[in-house]
Amino acid sequence: MNDCLFCKIIAGEIPSDRVYEDDQVVVFRDINPMADVHLLMVPRAHVAGLNDLDETHDALMAHMLRTLPKLAAAQGLTDGFRTIINTGKGGGQVIFHLHIHLLGGKQLPGFG
Ligand code: AMP
Ligand code: ZN
Repeated sequence: MNDCLFCKIIAGEIPSDRVYEDDQVVVFRDINPMADVHLLMVPRAHVAGLNDLDETHDALMAHMLRTLPKLAAAQGLTDGFRTIINTGKGGGQVIFHLHIHLLGGKQLPGFG
């Protein structure tokens, strides 16, 4: 956990462009944005990914999901937004601290 980049961002040891925080989550801009708006929402508590969740995380996950539309609205994404959670190496996860990508702006491409 000490080597976790997002734990260091949460602790303020590594700078980030923070747009929201509360007692459970921190939200900052992705350093390599894939859309006009590209935020990362991370829980303050270190959880590696979806595979590591158990019932003790239920309230946290509900809070994260319910906070996303408020963030999107605050970013001016009135027409909708996309959320992505990459899980494991095969799922494209690079940072092993659970995070939800929130993307929006210009019309995003569909899948397929
Ligand atoms: P994932 O592939 O789902 O693990 O996504 C990791 C994301 O973290 C990528 O979109 C990166 O651009 C982003 N990222 C990596 N380092 C930083 C950083 N220091 N600050 C903000 N975002 C970062
Ligand atoms: Zn972490």
